[in-house]
Amino acid sequence: MPLTHHYATTLCDLSTHVTPQILRGQKLEMVNEVLAHELNLPVSWWQDNQITALLGQSVSALSHYAVAQKYGGHQFGQWNPTLGDGRGLLLAEANCNGASVDLHLKGAGQTPYSRGADGRAVLRSTLREYLGSEALHALGIPSSRGLCLFSSEETVLREQLEPAAMMIRTAPSHIRFGHFEYFFQAGETDKLNALFDYTLQHHFSECAQASNPHQALLRAITLRTARLIALWQSYGFVHGVMNTDNMSIHGITFDFGPFAMLERYDPKAVFNHSDYQGRYAFDQQPGIGLWNLNCLAHSFSGHCSTEQLREVLTQYEPAFIAQYQHHLCSRLGLNAQQPSHINLANQWLAMLKQSELDYNNSFRTLAGTSYQQAQPQLRNDFINRQAFDQWWQDYQVARAETGVSESELKAVNPAVIPRTHLLQEAITQANSGDFTFAEALLKAFHTPFDTQWDEHRFSTASQSHTPGTLSCSS
Ligand code: AMP
Ligand code: MG
Repeated sequence: MPLTHHYATTLCDLSTHVTPQILRGQKLEMVNEVLAHELNLPVSWWQDNQITALLGQSVSALSHYAVAQKYGGHQFGQWNPTLGDGRGLLLAEANCNGASVDLHLKGAGQTPYSRGADGRAVLRSTLREYLGSEALHALGIPSSRGLCLFSSEETVLREQLEPAAMMIRTAPSHIRFGHFEYFFQAGETDKLNALFDYTLQHHFSECAQASNPHQALLRAITLRTARLIALWQSYGFVHGVMNTDNMSIHGITFDFGPFAMLERYDPKAVFNHSDYQGRYAFDQQPGIGLWNLNCLAHSFSGHCSTEQLREVLTQYEPAFIAQYQHHLCSRLGLNAQQPSHINLANQWLAMLKQSELDYNNSFRTLAGTSYQQAQPQLRNDFINRQAFDQWWQDYQVARAETGVSESELKAVNPAVIPRTHLLQEAITQANSGDFTFAEALLKAFHTPFDTQWDEHRFSTASQSHTPGTLSCSS
């Protein structure tokens, strides 16, 4: 188990050492054994709560080099330089087949960046992140991941008193857009350059060889972000707080807050109840991705000309559109290279919207329907049957062209997704000390395309057909 502490030791001026403050009665509740094995972590950590003891010692491989990272961020469009890890600590880096993977403890107590808040995380949001990130990962959507989750006997005050919890999550790194923005905006050029050098050496070594490594780095981040958001849009994921401090340079889903999966298909859906303007509505996410990349690009201006920055940023939109069309068409068994197939995909979305149908379940039902049927049962779900019939005729022709099979289609259309009502049920039980439902859900989230879930209650939409709004206070 060769843990490293490269960020903490190489970039000591960009972070502050803080010892984790374990919670009263802290208990290891959930362990992602598959991930722990991939990272080659000691099995002993997970026995008899030993991991909690390690976190609580001031000198252990997990606590000795623990740091809170400094960053800033554009929050709802406004620059905020006061941010940083207010309740999370980078503990160490593990190694997965030669790639560095951060171990980050969330809810670890106050840091110099806590801004008067308690440094804690509630069980509700911790469990949502733990389950949600694993679900996305299994869907093929890049994400930070949950390694383990701890409950406790402590409560913290939010809108009401709630049980406190912690989790360790993994990510290639915890470097956010806001890291670069902060050191650029503060005029701390030496630190900014140290961060660039570190990022290029440790995480984007393929860019270091380019004639302009910084431009290559921005291009890599831009293309990864376009790829990520194309996946979000095709699977109906709404992040909820796409502030630049919540954007990973690796193009992974990161810093889960009031996220939700679309249920009824509504492109304007907003689930963060603090998002009064709908800035982070489902259909705004692709544009916000570019807005955030623009903020990031400013920080590269010491190394790239305006023309070079613009050249990179203009690649975002075509990259996003091509991948979004590809995923959407794949989910329908269509071919995104054919304009008529893209038309069919757009018409499908328009019909889902008009009939207010559940987004993912409609794809799953279609995946399980033979396209050779004259009048599939699915037809009854649509308000405008005539429009459906016309669409179906064209769709049958297109499917005959691509020859995609039902089982191939099911393999890209999940039966189970992290629906808010399921997560809420897991939270309610966990709040009274029972993690059975959370574990059962996790098992399903790890195999979302499996046919065993087709008639299962995990695949049913919420009664209200909408996940409802979610609190940001976590
Ligand atoms: P988030 O909305 O979780 O992305 O957090 C935004 C900022 O507030 C980050 O700098 C967090 O570290 C900080 N923060 C959020 N909740 C807390 C808390 N309970 N205690 C201290 N800092 C927090
Ligand atoms: Mg955050």
